[in-house]
Amino acid sequence: ANGTELPKAKDLWYKLSPEALSRRPSPLKTAFKYAIDPKIVSLGGGLPLPAYFPFESLSATAPAPPFQTYNNPELAKDAPMISVSVDRYNHANDPGMIPLATAMQYGQSDGCKPLLEWIYEHTETVHHPPYSNWGCLMTVGNTQGLDAALRLLCSRGDSIIAEEYTFSSAMETAHAQGVKSVPVKVDLEGILPKELDEQLASWEGPLPKFLYTIPTGQNPTGGTLSNERRKAVYEVLQKYDIMIVEDEPYYFLQMDPYVPGASKTAPPPPPTAQEDPEKYSKFLSKLITSYLSLDVDGRVLRLDSFSKVMAPGTRLGWIVAQAPLIERLTRQNEVSIQTPAGMSQAIVYSLLSKWGQEGYLDWLVELRKEYTHRRNVCLDALSKYFIEPTGYAPKGLGEYVEWIGPTAGMFFWLKFNARKHPSFGKLSPLEIESKIYEAAIEHGVLFIPGSWFRADQDPVDPKVIPGEGEDADIFFRGTFATVPEAQLIRGVELFAETIAKEFGAAN
Ligand code: PMP
Ligand code: PLP
Repeated sequence: ANGTELPKAKDLWYKLSPEALSRRPSPLKTAFKYAIDPKIVSLGGGLPLPAYFPFESLSATAPAPPFQTYNNPELAKDAPMISVSVDRYNHANDPGMIPLATAMQYGQSDGCKPLLEWIYEHTETVHHPPYSNWGCLMTVGNTQGLDAALRLLCSRGDSIIAEEYTFSSAMETAHAQGVKSVPVKVDLEGILPKELDEQLASWEGPLPKFLYTIPTGQNPTGGTLSNERRKAVYEVLQKYDIMIVEDEPYYFLQMDPYVPGASKTAPPPPPTAQEDPEKYSKFLSKLITSYLSLDVDGRVLRLDSFSKVMAPGTRLGWIVAQAPLIERLTRQNEVSIQTPAGMSQAIVYSLLSKWGQEGYLDWLVELRKEYTHRRNVCLDALSKYFIEPTGYAPKGLGEYVEWIGPTAGMFFWLKFNARKHPSFGKLSPLEIESKIYEAAIEHGVLFIPGSWFRADQDPVDPKVIPGEGEDADIFFRGTFATVPEAQLIRGVELFAETIAKEFGAAN
């Protein structure tokens, strides 16, 4: 951060939960700086001797930037690969290596220093947080990052707000800590700032502690909130002095605009930096504005993760927030995860330092291309099987279904009006949803019912039948990330056949 020009974050210490306030530094950790000082003979720290770590070295092979042929079935066998390795002591003084003697040792609860520095640099490049005293802390992914954020800011009996449909494990995390989640109204794009303002204006009791939001490629809706709405939501939350936790595992899975029929041609490889010297600045300028980059107050905790851009099993993520909050979270790491696994940090750091910041952007550009193509395949299949006339639906299914083409993430979200189902009235929308879910499985395809993602944890009576003028929408979540293209297309077709049959569209 450019500390000379930017102001510091607001003092938000009063936002901390009693749990966060009562955390004390571990006295043993305060002695750690002496234990690793080569001038001091340490009989103090209970550190096992690195010579007894039964790992002399670790190595991995990975694709090499700029990934021109990676994942192209005809060329991938020739894709250039690189090897990365880590050894116990790094006698060669390779700056791109965290020696195992360090990475596998007790020590840094906020994460291995070289990796953290790499992440700082990446965060500055992508988000330019607009205040000076921001910091980063490693987590074992956004699942744990949210658990930490809840402990930092909430106590039993508090509430948070979240998109009406949201990541169900996030709601479970809150629920188990006694924190109530209250839905905020969304459309297919995401949060509606005006409705949010009205909801908070008429809020009864203590205001929610934070907004939990997945603004980019939302899970489950696939929605990406526009820059304008993000600004408006931020202003509303400033007005009520509410914190923001942005959970952004899909941030870099942003896509180029959808052009109907685009899936027919294989996407060309992205240019190399030699071919297009502005490759990186173009990529960065296309990325949507994060809440972190709007955060003049320091009220945002951004949760980032390598899960969707490398692999979920790296179990590596990080939190970006104002330094006083990062300090509290470091105390929390000390007594919970300590730090993510040393092997994971060491090998991922080796790869990142071999790739370099630009090589990592090359990787993200490549992912963007791949996800854009899969999204195109999915949307072309949706048009073909849901909108165009077919044998099973001579007039198409357009009158039953609605979606917006996702511009980020892994998910697509189909909206149906349960009133159009022939059993509406005898059955409630939730019963119709569950009937369709089962019929789809019977027909050989799995989609997840939207109601499974509802942010409010109070059980609703599944039998309630809405009256005239009341909402009767039901939703299903699909993903275009997981299966090969042909299966993705077949899955969409199978679901369309199920819907045609369920809604009686054959005649
Ligand atoms: N429990 C005890 C009794 C310990 O001595 C230690 C390590 N000093 C720990 C837990 C921490 O163990 P771990 O590295 O498995 O989190
Ligand atoms: N947050 C959201 C919104 C997700 O969709 C997921 C993925 O399943 C996660 C968090 C989990 O992320 P991580 O693997 O980083 O814990």
